[in-house]
Amino acid sequence: MSHPSQYQHFNADNLDYPSRRRRSADGRFLDWGNPRTKPSPFDEIRWPKIDPSQCKFCGRRYTLACILAMLPDQDTCEKLCHLFCATVFPLIPLLHLPSFADDFRAFWEETDSTGRHDAEIGPFVRKKPGFVCLLSSILFATLASVSPLRLKNVLGDDIDLAPGDMYFPAVASGMLTGFPRKPSLYTLAGYIFAQSQFVREEDFPDSQEFINTAFRIALGMGLHRDIPEAGFSVAEREMRRRLWWYILHLDVMSSASSGLSPLFIDEKMANTDMVSPYYQNEGVATEEHRQSENETPPYFLLSLD
Ligand SMILES: [Zn+2]
Repeated sequence: MSHPSQYQHFNADNLDYPSRRRRSADGRFLDWGNPRTKPSPFDEIRWPKIDPSQCKFCGRRYTLACILAMLPDQDTCEKLCHLFCATVFPLIPLLHLPSFADDFRAFWEETDSTGRHDAEIGPFVRKKPGFVCLLSSILFATLASVSPLRLKNVLGDDIDLAPGDMYFPAVASGMLTGFPRKPSLYTLAGYIFAQSQFVREEDFPDSQEFINTAFRIALGMGLHRDIPEAGFSVAEREMRRRLWWYILHLDVMSSASSGLSPLFIDEKMANTDMVSPYYQNEGVATEEHRQSENETPPYFLLSLD
């Protein structure tokens, strides 16, 4: 379980998911912030406008409270999560959506849309700090993959959000909660949602670093093993399987594209079951769920009925 004292103060020198930088032909790393080397689908990325060492609200080093203040309000988050379920999620179905909807609700119950920056971190975020990384990665993935016209139709004219606005919170909140050395299912899923936006079919060999990292993290978390006695919930168990098989899928795609051997070569090494096609309905008949049936579910959950 995470504890507030575990939150690391933000260190600008560590600020990258491994594939934020790409190697140039001569083997040197290129920074995404450099306009000449930025990937074309992300012309609007606003990374360079953010000083990674100093919070724009308080002027100090970033903490998780600073990142919360960078998220859009609840209504905008709900609309973007709804779009995510319609666009990104069918291609990368890593989440147990009813559990995510519960966590989304719990997050906004303790998170005030106004003046959040100085607010105390609530019990939900203390318990599941990785949710902040997951949510901002989902927002980033949605902004990066949905057309500007559709975004405008959904969000209206007043809200101006670009993918880069959410990339920084996604990366920074992952780092602040210890990713990649102390990963959780949520930070690993967030990492995959965010980094998959940079993968292009013709570009798979360039994604080796991201896939290698995800694979190693998965092994470290034991996702290659079904462990019945570990006491995981239905949602956790299924999410572990989905992460594992999705990472293997990335590995195979990358291997086919580059001609290099896949990372996973021996079936004896893993005993993870196949994913369940029905799992979105499993594990939700809890007392908590029955009690919350009368409440209005988050907007994006309605689309799943
Ligand atoms: Zn701050």
